[in-house]
Amino acid sequence: MAHTAQLTEYLQDNLSTFTDKLVDWLKIPSISTLPEHKDDVHLAALWIQNALTETGFTEPELITTEGHPLVYAHWLVDPAQPTLLIYGHYDVQPTDPLELWNNPPFEPTIKDGNIYARGASDDKGQIILVLAALKAWSAVAGKPPINIKILFEGEEEAGGASIATYVMNNTEKLAADAALICDTHMPSTNQPSLITGLRGILYTELKINGAKTDLHSGSYGGVAPNPIHALCHIISQLKTADNKIQIPELQAAITAPTSAEKEFYKNDPLGIEQSLLTEMGISELIGESGYPPLERLGVRPTLEVHGIAGGFTTAGAKTVIPAEATAKISLRIPPNFDPNEVFIWLTRSVKRLSPKGYTVQLTNIHAGSGVTVEQNNPFIAKAASSLEKIYSKPPVFLKEGGSIPIAALFNQELHMPVVLMGFALPDDNIHAPNEKFNLQQFFLGMQTVADYLGRLKV
Ligand SMILES: [Zn+2]
Repeated sequence: MAHTAQLTEYLQDNLSTFTDKLVDWLKIPSISTLPEHKDDVHLAALWIQNALTETGFTEPELITTEGHPLVYAHWLVDPAQPTLLIYGHYDVQPTDPLELWNNPPFEPTIKDGNIYARGASDDKGQIILVLAALKAWSAVAGKPPINIKILFEGEEEAGGASIATYVMNNTEKLAADAALICDTHMPSTNQPSLITGLRGILYTELKINGAKTDLHSGSYGGVAPNPIHALCHIISQLKTADNKIQIPELQAAITAPTSAEKEFYKNDPLGIEQSLLTEMGISELIGESGYPPLERLGVRPTLEVHGIAGGFTTAGAKTVIPAEATAKISLRIPPNFDPNEVFIWLTRSVKRLSPKGYTVQLTNIHAGSGVTVEQNNPFIAKAASSLEKIYSKPPVFLKEGGSIPIAALFNQELHMPVVLMGFALPDDNIHAPNEKFNLQQFFLGMQTVADYLGRLKV
């Protein structure tokens, strides 16, 4: 492919400049969820707007929203070439517990081939590597090989409401042939990966009411409804003892993985089962019997209770029969399901399991669809070729258990395949103390993205 050697040489020669840039940006504490950091988030947006100008984009836009600003830019080189929409987020997670950090989270520290700071791999480091790839193309060929659109947000760690509205109102402006998201991780520096599936999510609240007021168990025990018991009864029957979810419509509609996927889950060639045991500090994995851990983690549905509230829980004793009990319950749903339909099925199951004499109400708090991208989609196939070339090893195709709402949004509202090619590593401590980004991954990432852009040129 044209320019390969020059691109690599440019990236190599300018690696320290890109690292310095990243250090500079990481110093801005753009914690989106804390109101006292609102100005810092704004500053981080201005910083990346300026960096886009330096990269070669003309007049990147800072878009004000009800929350934190969005940053949009485009570099349209040739209508005959495909257009890639690149997404990233410049906001970061809070830093507590601060005492567990070896270095202050906003004083980036380079140590043992890693750069330590909040936001290093999630997601500022991954944005800078994309800009480095674009800058290399600009230096070597005067412009990127294909049309580029950029959309960066500052609310990813805080719900991302503004970008959802913006995307739905600007489908024309954001139109592209595919989206590239560099905000995920790969198993190791020796094993690249691409994510071809993400589960959806359904988050609900279950509320049970009994009598119109709290009652005394001496005066009413034996005849009064106890919503906590009813709640526990329902929850305990939503899964069997071997963790099979009791929603018949959901179970009936699940499609089996391909035989290649089944083989991969069964063999666990990356040893993920062992790392999970170590990460969690447990001796046995819990979950649906009859399915290997990788399948349970990536594509099977899950049902988890996040919290239960009701009655008397502080010190001492109070013989109350509570009038109300609530629980937060969520499901991770295989990508091909509509979570709102799953909500209807769950409601039906809850009704069926509800004991007599209670008012039972299930509320849909939020729902987000999953995403699947076909492995043979050309945008995925080319990403795989770029990873194979730079890492000297073909990537594994993984289905991830988490949900990335922006990927579903691009997929559904903008009707484009989403390439989830991330360069973080499993031990990068994202959302935790001592977040880091591996500098070798930083460099390999730049090379991979530069190669990918060239490969997309028709
Ligand atoms: Zn992220």
